[in-house]
Amino acid sequence: MILSMENLEKIKERIEVAQGDITRCEVDAIVNAANTSLRGGGGVDGAIHRAAGPLLLEACKKLDGCPTGDAVITPGFNLKARWVIHTVGPVWRGGKHDEAHLLASCYRKCLSLSFENKFGQVAFPNISTGIYGFPKKDAAQIAIHTVIQFLPSHEFPQKVIFVCYDNENYSIYQEILSSLF
Ligand code: ADP
Repeated sequence: MILSMENLEKIKERIEVAQGDITRCEVDAIVNAANTSLRGGGGVDGAIHRAAGPLLLEACKKLDGCPTGDAVITPGFNLKARWVIHTVGPVWRGGKHDEAHLLASCYRKCLSLSFENKFGQVAFPNISTGIYGFPKKDAAQIAIHTVIQFLPSHEFPQKVIFVCYDNENYSIYQEILSSLF
């Protein structure tokens, strides 16, 4: 990917890394690392459902699930975020089952929904790097590169926040971004 210095500077202002609990983010949309059934689960999915309240599950039940690599949107109910974008990351099965493409697709689909809805800020967790076992460094490279590819040609989302929960992901993101900008 070739970006001019000017483009790189512009994108830099639109990407942020934070550490903490994504359910507390005051943004237009937070992304949920959901599963195909959209019926809630462990990890960040469970935390988001607990914080949003039972209406989130009701809204999810009205949808016909979500395939791996795709994304759907619901209101955020009791969350500070107005919207939740539910995406389904791939389960890591050694790397030869299209995991990288599917993970990139998750980020792209969430970014496209943010574009269509003209979102200012969208917060992403580190999709697939928990229970689904995707190697953290590889997942971070895919996440960051997909966002960097998307932003220059799209006015929305104006800002992407990578919300890292664990120290390891937080340092990986900081390292990759400081090497890029
Ligand atoms: P997956 O099944 O996609 O791997 P997980 O929820 O198990 O989903 O993990 C995805 C990432 O979300 C992990 O890096 C995990 O540390 C992180 N995580 C867990 N709880 C939260 C939270 N409350 N806020 C932000 N990130 C979280």
